[in-house]
Amino acid sequence: MTAPTNGAPPAPIPVAVLGATGAVGQTFIRLLVDHPWFVLTEVAASERSAGRPYAEAARWIGGDMPPAVAELDVLPCDATAVRAPIVFSALDASVAGEAEQTFARDGRLVLTNARNHRMDDDVPLVIPEVNGDHLALLDTQQARRAWHGGIVANGNCAAIVVALALAPLHRAFTLRRLFVTTLQAVSGAGYPGVPSLDILGNVIPYIGGGEEEKIEQEVRKMLGTREGAAVRAAAFGVSAQVNRVPVEHGHTACMAVEFERSPSPADAVAALREWRSPIADLALPSAPASPIVVLEADERPPQPRRDADRGRGMTVTVGRVRPDPLLDLRLVACGHNTVRGAAGASVLNAELLVALGRVRAQPPAGA
Ligand code: NAP
Repeated sequence: MTAPTNGAPPAPIPVAVLGATGAVGQTFIRLLVDHPWFVLTEVAASERSAGRPYAEAARWIGGDMPPAVAELDVLPCDATAVRAPIVFSALDASVAGEAEQTFARDGRLVLTNARNHRMDDDVPLVIPEVNGDHLALLDTQQARRAWHGGIVANGNCAAIVVALALAPLHRAFTLRRLFVTTLQAVSGAGYPGVPSLDILGNVIPYIGGGEEEKIEQEVRKMLGTREGAAVRAAAFGVSAQVNRVPVEHGHTACMAVEFERSPSPADAVAALREWRSPIADLALPSAPASPIVVLEADERPPQPRRDADRGRGMTVTVGRVRPDPLLDLRLVACGHNTVRGAAGASVLNAELLVALGRVRAQPPAGA
């Protein structure tokens, strides 16, 4: 990998958002409108939206639509129409796989939220504070696929919250088994998402699209070890059960964990508090001062309404660290699903790639 340059690009880099009209696409727009390193120049979505001004095409979900974006014409998700060198993808999984490959083949760096390429063995699945070294897989990907660009994925919204909360504990005590039950916000289902009459006053213990399998596989990949140009998934077992709950934003994960070296709750809290983000010195614009905040067991439990926005949505809050009668420990983690679990995760990945000197300011001419 190229050595870190530890700094901002000489000029803001043009970026585009694919799937810009959806729930995650809108979060990208919020995070990118005043970004110090990137300038949002293009938005793209389906044929239903293409050719219309963004203000008409998008059903804006909260607050005011940024005026600079309202005026942009929505483009088709086509590499000849969208020209930015960095492309953030919030595309529906039904189309993301092929579209993202087209952009990567054309020399663009694609930062994706979609599930399609996450488990490809040459695609880095990255949380910068946990496994930024997995970005070395980009070299394998570019060599194997003869691409000038590439695809970097972030995990499923619940898998990111779980993996970030557990990373310091896995490093210190080595996970052996994990049972996790999630309580996932409705914004995780996109817009318009779950019908209100299905979810108000209700809990739905099912989320389609292989949500449980995604958590079980992706957490192990993100906490895996890079061996040369490949990543070996962590060897612990994971059993996930997911629930959709009537919460607007913020996924909560209730976990029971067994370790190779059994820690006391105090040991675990100390390991979480003493852990230092390996990217803290890079001063990336979207990196929160504290990626993990631990609440004392007797303080109060983590909860989405109070904790999802912590660190501008980029901090995961951990609490209720206590003994488990069957395994070693129980704990709860809560994080913002469309920020740390989606758009914010991609933007932070892009910032790390810029700091590592891996981003071209323009796509290759004629590519
Ligand atoms: P969403 O609200 O349903 O938005 C989907 C976007 O994809 C829209 O912009 C839509 O454009 C576009 N799209 C649909 N069909 C298309 C086509 N045939 N060609 C081009 N664009 C098309 O979904 P979302 O929640 O934002 O999720 C976006 C992606 O992120 C999904 O892959 C999802 O699994 C993933 N993700 C979501 C979350 C979350 O918390 N919501 C978290 C992590 C990952 P139109 O408006 O023009 O139809």
